[in-house]
Amino acid sequence: MKKICFLLSILLFNISCNYKVDDSSETNKKTSDSLQQTPKAPFGIVIHGGAGYIKKGNLSDSLENAYREKLKEAITTGNEILKNGGSSIEAVKRSINVMEDSPLFNSGKGAVLTHEEKPELDASIMDGKTLNAGGIAGVSTVKNPINLAYEVMEHSDHVLLAREGAEAFAKTRNLEIVEPSYFITDKQLQNIKRIKNENANKEAAFYNSDINGEKFGTVGCVALDKNGNLAAGTSTGGTANKKWGRIGDSPIIGAGTYANNKTCAVSGTGWGEYYIRGVVAYDISALMEYKGLSLEKATKEVIQKKQPELGGNGGIIAIDHLGNISMEFNTPGMFRASFVNDSLTIGMYRE
Ligand code: ASP
Repeated sequence: MKKICFLLSILLFNISCNYKVDDSSETNKKTSDSLQQTPKAPFGIVIHGGAGYIKKGNLSDSLENAYREKLKEAITTGNEILKNGGSSIEAVKRSINVMEDSPLFNSGKGAVLTHEEKPELDASIMDGKTLNAGGIAGVSTVKNPINLAYEVMEHSDHVLLAREGAEAFAKTRNLEIVEPSYFITDKQLQNIKRIKNENANKEAAFYNSDINGEKFGTVGCVALDKNGNLAAGTSTGGTANKKWGRIGDSPIIGAGTYANNKTCAVSGTGWGEYYIRGVVAYDISALMEYKGLSLEKATKEVIQKKQPELGGNGGIIAIDHLGNISMEFNTPGMFRASFVNDSLTIGMYRE
């Protein structure tokens, strides 16, 4: 009996040693990759204005300049808020408002149009501190869709509202209401007519070499404020020529937008159906949380490997709780800008 007890205790000792060895190597992996990084910046902000077939020859010098100026205005607006101690949620909202009000991007004014030649706008926002979130889909009378997403987050019991219901809620929150015609630009009217002629058999156009140079300018913003709080937001007209109330990833928390103070804040732009199926924004956060990957590795894994393997394309912007940033895309270009440690970068092409 004594002998059996002795053998049993040796066995148990061995098992516990082995377990400890595995456990510590896992911990080492985590700490070396993400947990022990030193803070890069006390605050920071990144924006995108859509990913797609954005190539040097496709934009005239004056259009390139117009994008550059608007991206600069949008990111500076958010950066000033953060610099003055404002919240990341406020910075995200205000930066996105600048792009929503500009006809250059596929959000708010200038959004792409549905098959019926109407605007149907989607947006979402998330607070990384509370994990509170709001989204709206298929709205065509609220001037700044991201503001409605914010109201859903802050002043409703819900996370996602759609169409007429979302518009009725907007009125109760005193948001600026406009006619759908406010969003429609001549350029997008011509664009939808041409797509319908040329792509009679296609359901929707996101990334299509037939429409070279056309923009897929969903907009998004992620920010880290001086209190260490992360936020993310995304606003879009969706895909051109969409039908049947199609909704993409942008208003879906976890797909197009996600923020969690433990990991990172992410906003995506790309082929929404694949972003929903890949749960892209949450997947990046989960790779950091559960696998201990750095922001850079997590965003590369999802955008350069998992999405292309699934068949999707597009890009993301992200910032982590330490102020590391990522602007990753697998398309020829992505309108983007970052402001971290007083340093501004603006990019469009694959430089
Ligand atoms: N992700 C958007 C959607 O599928 C489109 C885009 O990013 O341009 O609705």
